[in-house]
Amino acid sequence: MNKIPRSAYVHIPFCHRRCFYCDFAVVPLGNKIETLQGYGSKTVKEYLYFLQKEILSIKHKSSLSTIYFGGGTPSILDPQQIKELIDLFRENYGVDYGAEITMEVDPASFTQDDLYGFINAGINRFSLGVQSFNSQILQKSGRRHLSEDAEKSCLWLKKVYSCGLIKSWSLDLIQNLPLSGFREWEEDLKKTMSFSPPHISIYDLNIENGTVFKKLVNSGKLQLPSDKDAFKNSELTHLILKSSGYSRYEISNYCLPRHQSRHNRVYWSGVGWWSFGQGSTSSPWGEKLTRPRVSKEYKEWVTRQDELNLDSSLINRDFIYKELDEKIMLGLRLKEGIDIQKVFKEQNWGKKKFESNLSKLLEEWEKFLESGILVRNGNRFFLSDPEGMELSNQILISMFKWWDDIN
Ligand code: SF4
Repeated sequence: MNKIPRSAYVHIPFCHRRCFYCDFAVVPLGNKIETLQGYGSKTVKEYLYFLQKEILSIKHKSSLSTIYFGGGTPSILDPQQIKELIDLFRENYGVDYGAEITMEVDPASFTQDDLYGFINAGINRFSLGVQSFNSQILQKSGRRHLSEDAEKSCLWLKKVYSCGLIKSWSLDLIQNLPLSGFREWEEDLKKTMSFSPPHISIYDLNIENGTVFKKLVNSGKLQLPSDKDAFKNSELTHLILKSSGYSRYEISNYCLPRHQSRHNRVYWSGVGWWSFGQGSTSSPWGEKLTRPRVSKEYKEWVTRQDELNLDSSLINRDFIYKELDEKIMLGLRLKEGIDIQKVFKEQNWGKKKFESNLSKLLEEWEKFLESGILVRNGNRFFLSDPEGMELSNQILISMFKWWDDIN
């Protein structure tokens, strides 16, 4: 049965410059970007032209319950440009009453007036990329903003939230950045708590190929916290956030009651979503499609789709389920974990195959169940917090091994 996606991701690739750990599909435009006219505006306007064309190209549109502007740095755009994109969805897809419309914003890339402009445009949830409140750590990571910019942005968001102008906001941090030892991380967490954000995302630093950090690691010039120190930082995170009333509903996400990100849950739960913009990945009918990461190739792709009159996010087809290994991986990221019987049943295996595959998986997981990092409650399996959440890789590696063995 076809299920038309009701969530859309919109990629805004522009940044002032590339941070040292970032491998996203971004277009660094320098320090002075004037998106309506002046420096950078031609690049931005041209991209928005193709982005709008792609948004309009979908043939099977349905009203949206979540929209997410990610990047890049979407807050580089003028509020008017964000409004035009939201209006395009309203007029062509429809947007549900009470839909969650999120925008990623970076400190020092927007003013307080811009913030009100984004809210008037229809944004009702913000995700603020603070990463750290320590200016030295920020500079060492190639971030453009300083501690005072981050604090100012937090105060603005706290104010618009407490006035009821937005539904929620998230403060996003990166754990285990260079120079971030136990004491620095504790200060970051305490500062975070002082703004009482309803939602907090904490990502672990990953060293990706092609980044400045990767080069520095390879040449031995970047010291990162050891695994032991990283674990201590995670324990501290768990302690401080839990005692402040936050629940960890996904490996990297914490929130106060009723503040889970509805849009992100769509990715983890396996329901389809649209996505638009260079380098973004959609999964409308279960299969994934990633757009070209380079601007020129993305524009050519949109033009070609248009000339051939194709639906840019794959043709309509019967709902194709995700691969089982991916379903288990995504399900285990969530606090509630997965119902193994339920996901196995979706495979349509015969009884014998079903039972044999399940018992092989349970054999792989036996040691994790014994050590308590994986917990079983009837048919439901979930990671313990914080140990299981921190050591999830071991469990996933054993699951992928099982998946390879049975295929
Ligand atoms: S601001 Fe975000 S998207 Fe842009 S370069 Fe830095 S980490 Fe990457």
